[in-house]
Amino acid sequence: MSGIKDIPLIQRAKRNKDRRAIIASEGVFNYQDVLNASAKIASSLVEGVVDLKETCVGFLIPPGFHYVAVQWGIWRAGGIAVPLSIFHPRPELEYVIQDSDAAILVAQPDFEEKLRPIAEKQGRRLLLTTALLDAEPRSLPEIDVNGRAMILYTSGTSGKSKGVVTTHRNIEVQVKSLVSAWEWTQNDHVLNVLPLNHIHGIINVLTCALWAGATCEILPKFDAEVVWSRILEGNLTLFMAVPTIYVKLIAAWKRASSERQKAMSDACSKLRLMVSGSAALPVNVIEEWKTISGHVLLERYGMTEIGMALSNPLHEKRVPGYVGNPLPDIEVRLVDEQGKTAMPGTPGEIQVRGPGVFLEYWRKPDVTKNAFCEHWFSTGDIAVVENGIYHILGRSSVDIIKTGGYKVSALEIEEVLLTHPDIQECAVVGVEDPEWGERVSAALVLKERRNLSLVSLRDWVKERLATYKIPTQILLLEGLPRNVMGKVFKPDIAKLFREKKGTEYP
Ligand code: AMP
Repeated sequence: MSGIKDIPLIQRAKRNKDRRAIIASEGVFNYQDVLNASAKIASSLVEGVVDLKETCVGFLIPPGFHYVAVQWGIWRAGGIAVPLSIFHPRPELEYVIQDSDAAILVAQPDFEEKLRPIAEKQGRRLLLTTALLDAEPRSLPEIDVNGRAMILYTSGTSGKSKGVVTTHRNIEVQVKSLVSAWEWTQNDHVLNVLPLNHIHGIINVLTCALWAGATCEILPKFDAEVVWSRILEGNLTLFMAVPTIYVKLIAAWKRASSERQKAMSDACSKLRLMVSGSAALPVNVIEEWKTISGHVLLERYGMTEIGMALSNPLHEKRVPGYVGNPLPDIEVRLVDEQGKTAMPGTPGEIQVRGPGVFLEYWRKPDVTKNAFCEHWFSTGDIAVVENGIYHILGRSSVDIIKTGGYKVSALEIEEVLLTHPDIQECAVVGVEDPEWGERVSAALVLKERRNLSLVSLRDWVKERLATYKIPTQILLLEGLPRNVMGKVFKPDIAKLFREKKGTEYP
């Protein structure tokens, strides 16, 4: 085992002790504060066991200082960090906790009520951050950098989300690649508005900032007015978001008075870099943002399983609609349907290889094996290289919907809809939308003499699925279009939505 006392992220934090690390609702904290708090948390976690030895620890904490302290504490105790989403309703939390088999759950006291019944039902140990922070520091275990560090849950074609396992080394490689390509330094100050149970927020923003010795200012959630006010205050250098957030920032800018607009634009132009990713960035958004802020958004392409793979350049010209070229330490190739390297100018599936690529899907050895071809990971995304630059054409599968930067599984939503007392059959598809990337859209066949409105359906689904998975439009159909094999043919359903056929509720 290549055991070292501390993982490199912690070693680096020790060298940046007096620098400001986190600004959040709990206050302002330097690296020493994060080290102290995470040491106490780790000490509590290893009480009686010495080393968590890759035990999964699920934690439900809003983005902020305590989130980071617990994440680092789990790592320093030798555990696997499993971030839970504060926006997930109980069934989804139950699923992630059950699937990861998290023996320990950590909650911020405000979320105790949400986790306690699950912990009791599933026989998990529940600890509160307040109690963890009370511990006396004790000696911590050596950490294997090749050991499992984190599981992020991501939607797959097979319905329920899968746990993507990364090692400490994978995370280090992913972070170093971005720190080098986007030239992060100690002088950077990034504003995080993204959820911290998704790669974009947790790796590209939070961990890159803390690796670089920079400051990460964390808002508990995105609010366009709050972000603009913060930009107006000055001293931010970096901002990273999904396209939907830029659409909302543009709308908020348009609502402002012309005097305020000018101040907003001036303040925004002072940032050194603004990045977009996690979904395709429409060219009109790039153009509007350029007019407002003077920035050509840097678009990049990546995935939970691989970290970031392709990026527009930091200094040279960025081409709208394109995602640039491979980042450091990652190899990218396009493969045609026969599994051969795609000819230049012809589309192919993106495959990637490198030390940052994830280790496995948690406890799914067959799914993991099928996702790789001689160490190349098949992303399921189709791209083409034009003039030497990658252009993403979309997912090969129609069952993954990208909405507002989230990736959701249509099958998972269908499973829930089919438990509704009025629904006979259903098919969920993503329909292109300038604001959301794709809208979650459900075609429904109702049981005889039943009626269902979008509003009542949404109220019903709200109790069962995260907000961003709730259909925002429905079509009532007599029957679903199916192929000869009896399988629902989804492209036809998306077409019906686009043509507004069938009965639609606003
Ligand atoms: P996630 O694992 O949730 O980050 O989702 C990864 C998926 O988001 C990829 O497989 C792509 O389908 C999509 N994606 C990420 N970045 C881009 C981009 N710049 N353009 C188009 N799709 C993207």
